[in-house]
Amino acid sequence: MTALDTIIGHDSTVSTLQRSIKSGGRFSHAMLFNGPPSVGKRTTALAFLQALHCRSRGDDGNRLQSCGECPACQRFQQRTHPDFTYLTVEEGKTRISIDQIRALCHFLTLSSLEGGWKSALIDDAVFLSEGAANALLKTLEEPTPKTVLILVTERPGALLPTIRSRCNQLRFSPLDEASLRAIILQQEKRQERSLPTEQHMKRVDAALFLSGGRIDTALAAVRDENQMELWETFSHAWESFTITDLAKMNQLAEKWGKETLFPRIMRFISLKLFHLLKQNVREQKSGIEVRRLIDLQKASHNLRDQQESYNTNRRLILESLFIRIAMIRNSASNR
Ligand SMILES: [Zn+2]
Repeated sequence: MTALDTIIGHDSTVSTLQRSIKSGGRFSHAMLFNGPPSVGKRTTALAFLQALHCRSRGDDGNRLQSCGECPACQRFQQRTHPDFTYLTVEEGKTRISIDQIRALCHFLTLSSLEGGWKSALIDDAVFLSEGAANALLKTLEEPTPKTVLILVTERPGALLPTIRSRCNQLRFSPLDEASLRAIILQQEKRQERSLPTEQHMKRVDAALFLSGGRIDTALAAVRDENQMELWETFSHAWESFTITDLAKMNQLAEKWGKETLFPRIMRFISLKLFHLLKQNVREQKSGIEVRRLIDLQKASHNLRDQQESYNTNRRLILESLFIRIAMIRNSASNR
């Protein structure tokens, strides 16, 4: 479990939450944590609620967090705290049901068993069924004192406007590279992995590149030996694509056109093109080059979709993309 003080990348949100606890609970009875997937919304919500329930909170000026050791913290971490409930889509179901929400609303009206706050977290709130969302409205309109409900979602726009308007919204931004790197290293330290070597740090950099700003993708990538090896070979080859070496490109297209490798290679190509595009825009390169990169990015997505739908030849797709990449590079170096 992450303590509020060790949340990385959302400093101002964390400070706001800490101040609200310190001020004796001056926060909205209902909050909506929204933002892109896997950036720390649920982790922050849980850390905040744990701090609220903790019976021996550390207090250092404005910094405030759970102790992680008192009985309340331990029960919270094991999800057995009698004054906290966590709710999401049940296994085998596709929506959060009206019965789940009725039980939650009833839970929030009962007195606290530990004499403190009652709290609840609705994860993936976008999956509330229409009936469930309507059942929740009454609790949002007439909250029981000393209760707090947090809804977590990556798609706030898909919630009923009446739910959104009754919640205090806290927006989580995508994580920057430094925060993501710090989170990976924090997790590895927690798992007592050995000290990072230079080679490992290279791997962390690669994982960051592949992550799209998501914590889960970055962590999975850094631990996926096969993907990392493939990425290293691909990156090396990417730098050496030239139109004078068609044989090499054919060979790689043959090798990577295999069913098991193709989706990953297509993703790598897309990420590399996106990176190049950003770089060209930042360096204010010629409009022609930017246009060609955008066209190639579109073409690669179309080819990938066609492959999925019509099972077109994977080797030929890769070959044509590699040649176009080499041509763009060639014309850029001649300019
Ligand atoms: Zn505690």
